[in-house]
Amino acid sequence: MKITFFGTGTSQGIPVVGCSCAVCTSSSFYDSRLRTSALIEVENQNILIDIGPDFRQQALQNQLTTLNAILITHQHNDHVIGLDDVRPFNFIQKKSMPVYGLVGALEDIKARFSYIFSDSPYPGSPKIELIPINRYDIFSCNGIPVQPILAEHGGMPVLGYIFQNRLAYLTDVKSIDSQELKKISGIELLVLNALHHEKHHSHLNLQEAVELIQVIKPDHAYLTHLSHRMGIHLEIEKQLPTSIHLAYDGLTIELAER
Ligand SMILES: [Zn+2]
Ligand SMILES: [Zn+2]
Ligand SMILES: [Zn+2]
Repeated sequence: MKITFFGTGTSQGIPVVGCSCAVCTSSSFYDSRLRTSALIEVENQNILIDIGPDFRQQALQNQLTTLNAILITHQHNDHVIGLDDVRPFNFIQKKSMPVYGLVGALEDIKARFSYIFSDSPYPGSPKIELIPINRYDIFSCNGIPVQPILAEHGGMPVLGYIFQNRLAYLTDVKSIDSQELKKISGIELLVLNALHHEKHHSHLNLQEAVELIQVIKPDHAYLTHLSHRMGIHLEIEKQLPTSIHLAYDGLTIELAER
């Protein structure tokens, strides 16, 4: 099983348009971040988590030639607005794209992309099959068992996804209740969001993310959904505990066979 970070930036991406801060003008490739998304490769399936505004570019950069399913964490624009760009995969694979998420997130997608889901869709529209998830149960994502984990994002429910009890991917989290936390206690690889250093109403900041990771005790943790106000990647990386890292665009982590 393998995860590739397609994007690790918060909703504006980095560099932020019009910003001349040290991060946005950094020449280090670690400091350039597309909107948050990741690809999970498991049992010969490519499963994308979230499909934001940079999806087309991310698919090209990572030479994505097949895509089997999409998991949606929540309905914010930076996580769903790239959905129209699944069309090449509809054409290549000659089938609808299964898209999984909470009912509320899928309803929002339907409203946002009404031309896809109307009774007489616009010719050439993407072919999307929306599949609601019951958050309590392990579900089959195109044949791959995936366990959802519920978290809270400034009053909005967000889903994280757990694969093979080894890899958990959570973004846009502010808090996770203690019952849900049990699902990922001691997990091998944890992905979690950390926005920047200040308090935020709907995102963990760096200190809160580190504290939560210390409760979860994964073997390794990678932080995503970073703002330019987090600071220069290589400088922040040096300040983190050894098992916690900032993710960066293009990073691939392979979990060893066992
Ligand atoms: Zn977001
Ligand atoms: Zn900036
Ligand atoms: Zn969000």
